[in-house]
Amino acid sequence: MAILKIARMGHPVLRHKADPVADPTAPEVRQLVADMVDTMEDAGGTGLAAPQVHISARVVVYKVSATRLEEGEEEVPLTALVNPVLTPVDREKIHGWEGCLSVPGLTGLVPRHRAVRLQAITPEGEMIDRTVTGFHARVLQHEIDHLDGKLYPQRMDDLSLLLFQEEMRFGIPERARDLMESESIEVDDAQDVETV
Ligand SMILES: [Zn+2]
Repeated sequence: MAILKIARMGHPVLRHKADPVADPTAPEVRQLVADMVDTMEDAGGTGLAAPQVHISARVVVYKVSATRLEEGEEEVPLTALVNPVLTPVDREKIHGWEGCLSVPGLTGLVPRHRAVRLQAITPEGEMIDRTVTGFHARVLQHEIDHLDGKLYPQRMDDLSLLLFQEEMRFGIPERARDLMESESIEVDDAQDVETV
């Protein structure tokens, strides 16, 4: 078990496009995945990309717990993806709160594609090609942005909705509430934000 150091916003590794992995089933990839899972769980996150642990490789780990599911969606067990590629299924974007282990303490309301096609390979050599929606699609867009050197504030369309998570105790901003209601997203005053 190894817990790796997490890079924070401003570190150059988070700005660079990560390198493709030549051999997704190599033992080094499995070791990296195991260390990333330990690091993610230790930090209380639900997703982690290799650049967040100072490694420029196109590898992500994540899970989607039952508490985050919207109607008709399935729980996602702990999953590792190598060289993942996302393609938006349509133009529709919806807003949702995101937090990031590399941007500690903050949360922001981020527009993301509602549905994306995911193509990737696992460290076991399994090919994945499927469409994902909802929070699953959001987590993937967040993680794959890490592989392309982008952090979620760069995806925001209104930086007044970038807050310290602790200050959510005063309620979410009116503007966020209006936006979410206009997109038929359930507004929960006790927004608990997962970090990815
Ligand atoms: Zn992140």
